Amino acid sequence: MFVDVLLELKNKQTDQTYTYKVPTSLLKKIEIGKRVKVPFQHRELEGFILNVKKKVEGDFTIREILAVLDEESILNEELIKLGQFLKNTYLCSLSTAYATMLPKALKASLKSKKINKKYEKFLILNMPYDDALNQAKTKSQKEIIDCIEASSKLTKKEAQQISLSSVSTLLKKNIIREEQEEVYRLEDKVYVSDEKKILNTEQKNAYDAILKKLNTFHKFLLYGITGSGKTEVYMQVIEEVIKQGKTALVVVPEISLTPQFVYTFRQRFSNSVAVLHSHLSNGERYDEWRKIKRGEVKIVIGVRSAAFAPLSHLGIIIVDEEHAESYKQENTPRYNAIDVLEYRAELNQIPIVLGSATPTLERMAKSTKNLYTRLELKNRINHQALPICTIVDMKEEAKKGNLILSDALKNEIEGALSRQEQVILLLNRRGFSTTITCSNCGFTYKCPHCDITLTYHKTKNNLRCHYCGYTTYKKDFCPNCKESLNFYGYGTEKLEQLILKEFPDTKVLRMDADTTRVKNSYETMIEKFKNQEYDILLGTQMISKGLDFPKVSVVGIINADASLNIADFRSNERTFSLLSQAAGRAGRKDTVGTVVIQTYMPNNFILKCVKEQNYEKFYQYEMNLRKKLKYPPFYYLVGIKVTGMDYDLCSKEAVKVVQYLKKNVDENTIILGPTTANVFKVNNIYRFQILIKYRFDTKLMQTLKELDSLFILNHKIHLEIDINPTSV
Ligand code: ADP
Ligand code: ZN
Repeated sequence: MFVDVLLELKNKQTDQTYTYKVPTSLLKKIEIGKRVKVPFQHRELEGFILNVKKKVEGDFTIREILAVLDEESILNEELIKLGQFLKNTYLCSLSTAYATMLPKALKASLKSKKINKKYEKFLILNMPYDDALNQAKTKSQKEIIDCIEASSKLTKKEAQQISLSSVSTLLKKNIIREEQEEVYRLEDKVYVSDEKKILNTEQKNAYDAILKKLNTFHKFLLYGITGSGKTEVYMQVIEEVIKQGKTALVVVPEISLTPQFVYTFRQRFSNSVAVLHSHLSNGERYDEWRKIKRGEVKIVIGVRSAAFAPLSHLGIIIVDEEHAESYKQENTPRYNAIDVLEYRAELNQIPIVLGSATPTLERMAKSTKNLYTRLELKNRINHQALPICTIVDMKEEAKKGNLILSDALKNEIEGALSRQEQVILLLNRRGFSTTITCSNCGFTYKCPHCDITLTYHKTKNNLRCHYCGYTTYKKDFCPNCKESLNFYGYGTEKLEQLILKEFPDTKVLRMDADTTRVKNSYETMIEKFKNQEYDILLGTQMISKGLDFPKVSVVGIINADASLNIADFRSNERTFSLLSQAAGRAGRKDTVGTVVIQTYMPNNFILKCVKEQNYEKFYQYEMNLRKKLKYPPFYYLVGIKVTGMDYDLCSKEAVKVVQYLKKNVDENTIILGPTTANVFKVNNIYRFQILIKYRFDTKLMQTLKELDSLFILNHKIHLEIDINPTSV
């Protein structure tokens, strides 16, 4: 018997499968998807078996595999197909694809540190219970025997807590014996169960529509405003799927931001839920993965990478907050989890439901053409009112000297505090000041490695680059001419200081990348804010997602322009969605909320749409714009970045790439660039970008593959190809 083995070879990003012979001693262990150790030139390598065959064509010497490394197959048929899908769609190698799909512990590579299964020692009676009791001498020996008898399993650790010496005596006398058993690192917990709700008419309609399509490949867009009860619909559909003996995959943007979501699922489905979030240790991830593979859970909730969770008998796929940007991976392979999941739904012939209060333009457009069945939840549960939204012109406020907080927002905060209600303030920039400049010589603190100013962080009294992490200390005077320094721009740190000055007796909680670095700090903070240990929560966009705080009645958007002014075709969409989600936080239980949006562009159309909470109006406007400017959903995009340390070489190669493209792609395809990237230099690497816009182009993929292979062995210039980028 022979096998084809996928090997990952250094300095060759292309895929290589090699044929090996299976020695008789290993025949029984061979299975597609297991890892094997093989000889390669003068080395030994690890690889996956991708194919098993009886005969080999051709005349060459074939070496034998050395060992089979897995007891159970890792890549099943579906995962093998998903790897191929990644390779074909996003132009990466199969090895890269599988490395992305699998937990670190299961990578095929000799280099990686081995992560092992965890074992625990259990104690078992070595003779009938009565005999054991008779032989036991002391009270604690008897107690241990009783405990073993009562619970079918007693860990050695637990027994030793009763009495260390008794355990060893019992073992010595062979009254009990010890056995090792594999255990999972994450323990099951008991959750207070939660009754399922009676669906309202809109929810019921959505539920019925989805149930009708179980066991067929069908795409749904569940367009439901914040608080309309989408989660309840997901859960009841899943309940039905499980009843039919199948499993469910639920993907969310970021689990630490939505602890409530997971908690609700756990309350409803208890321990048939496995959670794959980004804070799991390698060992924990390995355990959860095996638990899923072995069919020990019915539901998997996870982030982007959970798209590859090895669930079998899938019955439904759900993607919550489908507009979230975290579904797209920003490094190789640059895959979009939603594309992967749609492919999986098709492979399994099951429905996929994408939910959002602010769907992406692409998906909304497709739903108007019935490529997705649109299900709408237009009302909040209990028909609770949407918040009242005001736009404040900061030009007028600036005249009064209010650069950060407007009078209107101050009044609202004061009102909320006096009513014992809570406030959320959103400012999408961390740090204290974003620019420090000398008023005399014009000196500005900049990152020496990147093309960007350094942000001042007051707490640590240092200056930091938000791109590469470069940190330096701030001098009290200009390092150039010794004159005094001016601070411009503001971030969350400064806002915090100002709030404490304006409202001295309030408890303020700041949440941004700087205050949430420690594991679980996010959850702890959210919990404390929910318990009203704080009055005001301020932070970056991480506070705008999926949080349900009944006591929040005022939401302030400190600087709505920050995200509108980013030069990106999606910045309007991103702003609309960010601000709508934030606004959705105000007044969720029994108060009507207030939202104050501060801007220097009070007449901006997008902000008006936010104020009216009018997605349809935003959609029409933005679709027109995209059509005019030839952007998605009217055109498809491919982004190419040509990067390197040598400026001249890099710019020359970028021009060559454009020439190559123009010669080889369809004549209607538009090629823009090369231009310099938004932040041109990062970590001493220059970045030129090229943008391809096309509607139909049968030659494009092949051309991109050729281009890619031209650069693979080049050490000076790197080519990053991004299929359907979410930003440019
Ligand atoms: P969404 O995900 O659409 O923002 P949620 O699922 O968070 O909305 O629902 C908002 C609140 O309404 C939750 O507290 C949920 O438990 C509750 N809820 C959902 N559906 C119902 C229902 N049919 N009856 C009563 N309460 C419901
Ligand atoms: Zn830098």
